[in-house]
Amino acid sequence: MAKFRVIIDYTVCQGFGACVELCSKFDLSDVDAKSHVEGAKKVANGEAVDLDELDCHKKAAEACPFNAIHIINLKTNEKIV
Ligand code: SF4
Repeated sequence: MAKFRVIIDYTVCQGFGACVELCSKFDLSDVDAKSHVEGAKKVANGEAVDLDELDCHKKAAEACPFNAIHIINLKTNEKIV
């Protein structure tokens, strides 16, 4: 079972790309001007990916000025970011 869930909330993502600058796992789409994280699938209000290990995701999430990126520890249900 994956240990972490990374979620991007598109209701608040403004597409300025601080996350993309800090972590190559994130990419800005020309189509919708939202951030996309590698391996993610669509969920309500955005997208999410389950991961065994975090790379630079936490750094990107902490840098988001709109608090659009959330990280959950799936074992403890603790919200890390
Ligand atoms: S830093 Fe936050 S608001 Fe900016 S593109 Fe990334 S997720 Fe969206």
